[in-house]
Amino acid sequence: MSQQTLTENNSVIPQRASTPSTDFERDNFDTWVMNTYGRFPLAIEKGLGCRLTDTQGREYLDFVAGIATCTLGHAHPALIETVTQQMKKLHHVSNLYYIPEQGQLAQWIVENSCADKVFFCNSGAEANEAAIKLARKYGHKVLEIEEPVILTANSSFHGRTLATITATGQPKYQKDFDPLVPGFEYVPYNDIQALKAAIADIDEGNRRVAAILIEPLQGEGGVRPGNLEYFARMREICDETGILLIFDEVQVGMGRTGKLWGYENLGVEPDVFTSAKGLAGGIPIGAMACKKFCDMLSPGTHASTFGGNPLATAAALTVARTIENEGILNNVIERGEQLRTKLREIAAKYPDLFVEVRGWGLINGMEIKEECQLTSIDIVKAAIDLGLLIAPAGPKVLRFVPPLIVSDFEIDLGMELLCEAIEAAIA
Ligand SMILES: *Cc1c(COP(=O)(O)O)cnc(C)c1O
Repeated sequence: MSQQTLTENNSVIPQRASTPSTDFERDNFDTWVMNTYGRFPLAIEKGLGCRLTDTQGREYLDFVAGIATCTLGHAHPALIETVTQQMKKLHHVSNLYYIPEQGQLAQWIVENSCADKVFFCNSGAEANEAAIKLARKYGHKVLEIEEPVILTANSSFHGRTLATITATGQPKYQKDFDPLVPGFEYVPYNDIQALKAAIADIDEGNRRVAAILIEPLQGEGGVRPGNLEYFARMREICDETGILLIFDEVQVGMGRTGKLWGYENLGVEPDVFTSAKGLAGGIPIGAMACKKFCDMLSPGTHASTFGGNPLATAAALTVARTIENEGILNNVIERGEQLRTKLREIAAKYPDLFVEVRGWGLINGMEIKEECQLTSIDIVKAAIDLGLLIAPAGPKVLRFVPPLIVSDFEIDLGMELLCEAIEAAIA
């Protein structure tokens, strides 16, 4: 793909070298910043829509969106206006006082979901922490369980705090951080018999299942959509037993799947759900929304200094209004279908390489065959060299999560770049 095409809609046409530079002050950065990330060797300086420019002036088409976060892309005029105006007016006062924007955002979430009330924090892990605390208190107070257990799924991802790595059903995130938080057990995803068996097994004396915490579609675990039958039966079991059903909507919520909330794809409603990533379009925010027992966490029992501040909640309100007023969900559905069709064509072209393509709306994955030598990182790196940003979801799955405003031209362009990247990776 020539640089000409990539910049077709933009005025600046930078020169692209064959590989991204690694000299952008990287040594300096690594001297001062703790080495907790395996970073790709580029530094991004600015963005517009679905395009990013690095410090060397090279352009990229962004199918990562800050990990499914920049809902409206980069430098969206409405978000710039809101954040600028709110910053001039008031950005933070703490929850010692009433915050009108927080109230308005909560009202919008309640009016546009199954929830009755909302609690605000600053990230996905924090939102899940809130849900875990709520679930435990619910277990004690409502189900009268002395040692409440929370069930989560294998290959899940719920965050990086101690409780949320424990909730995360992937040993690689837990390694060396033991002792983990007690009160979690794991079940295979999309397996109703295993879920029933676990609920029956975990019933010894004071110890019983109080809640299930689960993603409607597993994001980090490899873009695996939930099975409708599984979730329908899970809902029935929770209704019969009183087990609290909590959905982690951190990655799939706020329009990512073509519906506002991921659970709408499954035809069931949770009792509690969490949101974060895309909620404020890239301004840090987290939320726990709940339908039942919203007043479980009474004054003084849970809090966040920054949570729901005027800046973050005003930004989220603007993302919400833009999704509503600009037909964004339709774009997600149409662009998602276009993307999956193209990905399936590409997968069919390389039958020795790919297993399948799956996803909802604009969260899609393409799985590489286990026996194939290539990993997702190999293709991600080759794509970066060609000017396309995509993200791995585990060692064998490529993840495509562009901003929800991505155009039909940009999807086609991204898929042309992907083909070139695959050719380069297998060469
Ligand atoms: C990213 C993610 C989290 C963690 O969110 P942070 O904001 O990084 O704490 C939790 N759950 C899911 C499903 C996620 O994708």
